[in-house]
Amino acid sequence: VSRVIPVDTFDLVIFGGTGDLARRKILPGLFRRYSAGQMPEAAQVIGAARSEMSVNEYRAMVREALMEFSDKAEQGEEVIAGFLQHIDYQQVDAQGDDGWEALREKLRDGIVRAFYFSVAPFLFGDIAERLKTRGLADADSRIVVEKPFGRDLQTARALNATLATYFEEGQIYRIDHYLGKETVQNLMAVRFGNILFEPLWNAQFIDHVQITVAETVGVGGRGSYYDKSGAMRDMVQNHLMQLLCLIAMEPPARFEPDAVRDEKLKVIRALEPVLANEVVRGQYEAANGEDGYLDHAGDPRSITESFIALKVRIANWRWQSTPFYLRTGKRLRARMSEIVVRFREPPHSIFGEEAGGRANEMTIRLQPDEGMDLRVTIKEPGPGGMRLVDVPLDMTFADALGPDAEEVPDAYERLIMDVIRGNQTLFMRGDEVEAAWAWTDPIIAGWEEGKTKPAKYDSGSSGPEAALELLHRDGRRWREIR
Ligand code: NAD
Repeated sequence: VSRVIPVDTFDLVIFGGTGDLARRKILPGLFRRYSAGQMPEAAQVIGAARSEMSVNEYRAMVREALMEFSDKAEQGEEVIAGFLQHIDYQQVDAQGDDGWEALREKLRDGIVRAFYFSVAPFLFGDIAERLKTRGLADADSRIVVEKPFGRDLQTARALNATLATYFEEGQIYRIDHYLGKETVQNLMAVRFGNILFEPLWNAQFIDHVQITVAETVGVGGRGSYYDKSGAMRDMVQNHLMQLLCLIAMEPPARFEPDAVRDEKLKVIRALEPVLANEVVRGQYEAANGEDGYLDHAGDPRSITESFIALKVRIANWRWQSTPFYLRTGKRLRARMSEIVVRFREPPHSIFGEEAGGRANEMTIRLQPDEGMDLRVTIKEPGPGGMRLVDVPLDMTFADALGPDAEEVPDAYERLIMDVIRGNQTLFMRGDEVEAAWAWTDPIIAGWEEGKTKPAKYDSGSSGPEAALELLHRDGRRWREIR
């Protein structure tokens, strides 16, 4: 029995169809859906980009991308050839007149139309305008917008206003691929599908939450782009904030787009301003055979942070004494994304201190592998008296559901199919993005005005010493980056 839920036939246009994101994520994602049998027979994917090329040249490029970036490419020639039959190409100039009429003629009436903006954000407005004014988009068409969504509140508002000139909010899909991860959705299932957790999910029982997104890569060739952004804008305002919302939000009445997004918005609006001594910024230095940030930065004296750690407080009844510690950085010791929910110690130990045991902990792992476990305390087996150990209870689907379970879809493929289905639950609403910037802006202004330099940390380390100190002084410690 196939668990693949069919979707309606669609035309999907990928603006930036020759770009890095299209080749690494979007096209391989669509290919995996095709391989899984989810792509309708008449579905059409049209790459649209600046380069002049024939359909066959584009298909050859897509084939190469699949070979390089899809683990399913070994499926064989026939499957790839079948997928390529769905692929078309149209040269367009996002800022001019060329190609738009030809693109319009390729689109078919009466089926789902989606336009993926996989181009630099300064082109979003130009493309939105042309889609509308040249009759490519109708009232049911969807647009998918990539990050970054602005660089502060003002630019995000302007971008929202521009898109709103041509499209309804219900047509705009602001993508944050962290929300497409299976485990992130599993987190919601575990929180709201069981009676066990929700009664404990508050400051009375949860000591603190840690969210870590550690990367091993540096900024490399993206140095001058990254230099205008930094870890706060590039990672915290969007990805880490979204994860925080899913942990902290109240139960929505239904698992529906606006019900979920209303609750997330309330969390963002309840965030307290962050104190200057509760933010640690870092910048990596050459070490362990790796280069330093300034080797690639646009400005050799750049004070942009490649690492940030901060203590976040949510001013509401549920979380009034439970801090959320966030940390993300590049060139760290290991690639690791995880959320740790640390429960409080039992109020009294009947076994005595020496018996061991420790507080319960739920870990939600997003990278390098996805999974979830809950550490519980049990008796150490054997005759050694009442000694306690903690063991992980695995809450990961793959093992429990067995080898017949459908393979876990990648975040992008899942989200693209949600666009085709018209389901916005896992996409950010405009007001959420603005609220997140409204919280982020004053924090950034604090160091931009003061020209505060980030602390140096070694490439390949766990980040600056001060980030460890941020928890130590609260009597807590970070999960090790390993
Ligand atoms: P890229 O530079 O590799 O590709 C840019 C694409 O835009 C090319 O296909 C190019 O032909 C097209 N393009 C540029 N100017 C055009 C014009 N005037 N008319 C028509 N097409 C034009 O960029 P990318 O890395 O693929 O990133 C695309 C978007 O996705 C950006 O907004 C980026 O911030 C975002 N993003 C990228 C990644 C990633 O991993 N690459 C990750 C997250 C978000």
